[in-house]
Amino acid sequence: MRILHIDHIGVASKDMAEALKFFVEKLGMEAKGFETIEDQKVRVAFLPLGEGEIEILESTSPDGPVAKFIEARGEGVQHIALRVDDLDSALEELKAKGVRLIDEKPRIGAGGARIAFIHPKETHGVLLELCERK
Ligand code: ZN
Repeated sequence: MRILHIDHIGVASKDMAEALKFFVEKLGMEAKGFETIEDQKVRVAFLPLGEGEIEILESTSPDGPVAKFIEARGEGVQHIALRVDDLDSALEELKAKGVRLIDEKPRIGAGGARIAFIHPKETHGVLLELCERK
């Protein structure tokens, strides 16, 4: 498995428009890549920065994972995504090492990326997403 760099940092917000007021108007970042991922009940916006991005997340439903995260822990960093060169082999390697995964198989995330989450019990509380982009 080869981890290339931080792909993005996911920030859970109660109100994306309010969050973007800070990141765009105050920090001067550019927001693009607005997208709704229906099966995750989340709306996202990406703010590119060098090789990485900040991903602003807003739940589309009170029972979505981002809404539940905010309910339990408040707004803030929800996950960190690491770019890997080959997600299939990374997942095989982690399974062989006995690492607990949320996603045993890759699924499609925002921007068409192939993604999979590692269980936070394995990562000392950090929700880690592995991400492969072509
Ligand atoms: Zn993400």
